[in-house]
Amino acid sequence: KKASIGVTGLAVMGRNLARNLARHGHTVALHNRSEQRTKELVEQFGDEGDFIPAYSAQAFVDALERPRQVVIMVKAGAPTDAVIDEFVPLLEKGDVIVDAGNAHFADTRRREAALREKGIHFVGTGVSGGEEGALHGPSIMPGGSKESYQSLGPLFEDISAKVDGEPCCTHVGADGAGHFVKMVHNGIEYADMQLIAESFDLLRGAGGYSPAEIAQVFQTWNSGRLDSYLIEITSQVLAHTDAASGKPFVDVVADQAEQKGTGRWTVQIGLDLGVPISGIAEAVFARSLSGSSNLREASRGLGGPSRAPLTGSALHTFADDVEQALYASKVVAYAQGFNQIQAGGAEYGWDIDLGKVASIWRGGCIIRAKFLNDITAAYADEPALPTLLTSGGFRKAVEDAQDSWRSVISTAVRLGIPTPGFSTALAYYDGLRAERLPAALVQGQRDYFGAHTYRRVDREGSFHTAWAADGRPESSA
Ligand code: NDP
Repeated sequence: KKASIGVTGLAVMGRNLARNLARHGHTVALHNRSEQRTKELVEQFGDEGDFIPAYSAQAFVDALERPRQVVIMVKAGAPTDAVIDEFVPLLEKGDVIVDAGNAHFADTRRREAALREKGIHFVGTGVSGGEEGALHGPSIMPGGSKESYQSLGPLFEDISAKVDGEPCCTHVGADGAGHFVKMVHNGIEYADMQLIAESFDLLRGAGGYSPAEIAQVFQTWNSGRLDSYLIEITSQVLAHTDAASGKPFVDVVADQAEQKGTGRWTVQIGLDLGVPISGIAEAVFARSLSGSSNLREASRGLGGPSRAPLTGSALHTFADDVEQALYASKVVAYAQGFNQIQAGGAEYGWDIDLGKVASIWRGGCIIRAKFLNDITAAYADEPALPTLLTSGGFRKAVEDAQDSWRSVISTAVRLGIPTPGFSTALAYYDGLRAERLPAALVQGQRDYFGAHTYRRVDREGSFHTAWAADGRPESSA
């Protein structure tokens, strides 16, 4: 018997993906650079389904039904290229290579183009949900050709998470679209985590709540519109007491957030595409700031306001106000992320269904949330929606939240509690709805020092004012 699919790269992600496939009744060929991982998988989990272990690339390829479907789950970057180079000579036209690692979408586009020349389908696929997701049902975001999805789709849909009976897997778009969407998913994840962290900081610093009390607040929020995996785990992290010290766990963890790079990529590409994804950018910068030990050490004594926590009615409504601020800021972060996907789609010629993307993020992945049902519905109502902020439900919710949102940010500013995520989200909202922006003045400055010209509100064409040395216009053209 041959295998319908093979997995090469059997570290935690590959192993769990292979087990997930086998548990769903698919025969899975197994391969790893070092034999040990393959042996271990078969020894420990061999009874979960049909596995065909292979100890050479040739044996692995020979174990596969045609057209062959090879899933690569190795370290992103050079290792992925090394594995592709190893397998390509052994494959034939029509075979499919899936890269399920966290590749940069530009690498995926390059690899896809090179393999297309050889008649091999290369399917860069985003997989989210960590090791648990890989085993029990991840959110899967395949790119590549439509043709490859005909054979791969049913397998991937089978092992993906399900929400309301629908698989959290769809063909996202051609070549690098899947990895692009996974990248933005991670960027949104950074923003979401930052906003939740700011909520915690405010509840503690301005509201005077203890971590255990904040865990309770988050738990309450988790039964409302903020119902999500990230809120749920935050509540659990905050409720946790460190056994060694007896202190709240959150107080014994070094306050320097690390990053593996997908958030940074999202921001870099956001800049390239000219999409204002300020919420994601601030979240990445907040992690960088937290990790800037020398800078923080040197700056610790800088003056700030006294931090007298809130009292009276302001305290009474504070948790609810923070919930509103979190919700509104979150809508902004997602709106920005979806706009980035839209812009990426336009730039690279992908026909991405944004509502479908929202729907496959409802389960399996780190940003899974009830909220994504509303995004799915918003794009179903209006596929060409310019921004989520103008869709009926979100518009009303954010308008209703804005008084609290503004009040929470003023409290933060007054007490000197940094809220880059909340603040940039509100600035974006106010920027978008502004009748006039001071960009007009920036254009004037540009014209003054660089003769960069400007357009006028009342006439067509491009204009330059000949600014004299004393700043008075000499003449206008
Ligand atoms: P790692 O990223 O730690 O990669 C280890 C695997 O890569 C091993 O199988 C290793 O083989 C193989 N490998 C490394 N270099 C080479 C090489 N030059 N040639 C052949 N094989 C090589 O494993 P993970 O399971 O954590 O992640 C796999 C992929 O999935 C990565 O791209 C990761 O970014 C992505 N991912 C990870 C998630 C997570 O939560 N961990 C979530 C979503 C995606 P050997 O055993 O011989 O060393």
